[in-house]
Amino acid sequence: MNPQLSVVDHSLVASKLGVLRATTTATEIFRRTLQELSVLLLAEAGRYWATTPVQVATPLQSCAGVALAKPVVLVPILRAGLGMVDGMLRMLPDARVGHLGLYRDETTLRPVTYYSRLPKNIADAQVLLLDPMLATGHSACEAASILMRNGAQSVQFVCVLACPAGIAQVHSQHPEMQIITAAVDPELNQVGYIVPGLGDAGDRYFGTN
Ligand code: URA
Repeated sequence: MNPQLSVVDHSLVASKLGVLRATTTATEIFRRTLQELSVLLLAEAGRYWATTPVQVATPLQSCAGVALAKPVVLVPILRAGLGMVDGMLRMLPDARVGHLGLYRDETTLRPVTYYSRLPKNIADAQVLLLDPMLATGHSACEAASILMRNGAQSVQFVCVLACPAGIAQVHSQHPEMQIITAAVDPELNQVGYIVPGLGDAGDRYFGTN
C-alpha cells in the first residue's frame, strides 16, 4: 500500500462517482454531485491533518475538544478544479482560495502557466490542490512545483479520478504529496482522457459539452 495514495473506500463516494460517470447525468446534477463528492474527499484529506487541543464549555461542563492546527488553502487548477471549491467552502468557510491556470502547449506538450494568484499564507497552511482528473499528471506536477516555489510546505492533491500513469508521474516529481481520489481507473486513451473516466470534467461541469 502506498501511504501517499488514498483511494477512498466508501459507499457514498462510490455512488456519487457513478452519477458523475453516467453520460445521462444532466449538467445541474453533475454540478451538485461534484460538489457533494468534493466534501467527502475533503473529509478524507482532513484525516491526516494535525489538530490542537482546545477546551470547550458545553452547557453542562467544560470538556476537551480540538481545532485544526493550520489554516486551509484551496487551490483549484482552472478550469475543472473550480467545480470542487464551493462544496469544500461550505465545510471550511474561512479557507482562502488561490487559483492556478495551466494550458498544454501543443508543440512541446508541456503545461504552461497563464494565471497564478495565491494567498500569502500558503507557507503556514495545509494546501489542497484541486483537479477532478489526474490524467497525465503534467499539470498537477507543474501546479505543485508552483506551490512549492511559493513556500508551500504541506500539499495534498485531491481528485475524483486518477490513473496509474498520472499517479506515477506525480510521485516521481513530488513524492511527498499525498493523492486523494475516489477511484483509480486503468488507463489513458491516445488523447489523454481517463478510461472509463467521466469525460471532460470541465465541459460537463460548465455545460460546454
Ligand atoms: N481531463 C478531463 O477532464 N478528463 C479526462 O479524462 C482527462 C483529463
